[in-house]
Amino acid sequence: MGEFRLNPETLSFSVIAKDSVECKACSNKSESMASFPFKKDYVRIYEVKDTVQPSNYSLNGQFFKSSVGHGYEEIIVDSPAHGDKFNEYSIEETELLFNIIDKRVAEILKYNIGKNICITRNLNGHGYFDLLALPIPKVEERNCFQCDYVKRVDNREVHRTETVSAYVPFTPMSDVQINITPVKHVSIVDIDPVILFDMSSTLKKVLAQFKDNNVTVALMEHGDGHFHLEVHGGKLDGFELLGIERITVAPEMLAKELREKLGYDKKDK
Ligand SMILES: [Zn+2]
Ligand SMILES: [Zn+2]
Repeated sequence: MGEFRLNPETLSFSVIAKDSVECKACSNKSESMASFPFKKDYVRIYEVKDTVQPSNYSLNGQFFKSSVGHGYEEIIVDSPAHGDKFNEYSIEETELLFNIIDKRVAEILKYNIGKNICITRNLNGHGYFDLLALPIPKVEERNCFQCDYVKRVDNREVHRTETVSAYVPFTPMSDVQINITPVKHVSIVDIDPVILFDMSSTLKKVLAQFKDNNVTVALMEHGDGHFHLEVHGGKLDGFELLGIERITVAPEMLAKELREKLGYDKKDK
């Protein structure tokens, strides 16, 4: 995981991390950490290790205290070869994948890595979920936002079952965003078979409305412990969905490079 920094003026975070242009499943070289039977094969889990040069810059002052450099990323791969078939999976297969995700989240939450869980999948990609567990953005004690959202969907609701509501959120992060939220307050690790079925079948209905596979599906849960699904037109990664800017070069590395080019020797000053 990269190093996080908080901008004290805008209160937005940046992460210094490797660019994620290449397919994380195809470029993965590590051994799988766990596997689960799926469709005559296995869903395999791989940790994603980011290589950033950590800076010597010490983060201090009140604004930087929450700028924690920790977090965890793994990919949950259900497709042995590149090319996502998610749209062809049955409701039962979709449920099974969500069950595997539940197990992974329950395992990860044991380690207190962070309360922000964001699991994304681009349907134009390889066929894997990219799971991020982060301590930021920092979550303070508060009322549950998801409980509030489902109560106030009004004229933005597009579908509802006994247990889930599908709606266009009040503040979308992309042009076409549909959220699917359990009506009752429930964590991803406590989800019951009825909600799981309603989630999977509602997701299938929503995905059928998109003309192509340039769609991102995300499972999100924050510190308030109420999970929801997001469907976005286009490709978005977990950092983008959490409002974190990705920077690929450490500021101190860039400054060093520029000093050398400009012939500026700081020690002389
Ligand atoms: Zn791939
Ligand atoms: Zn809630």
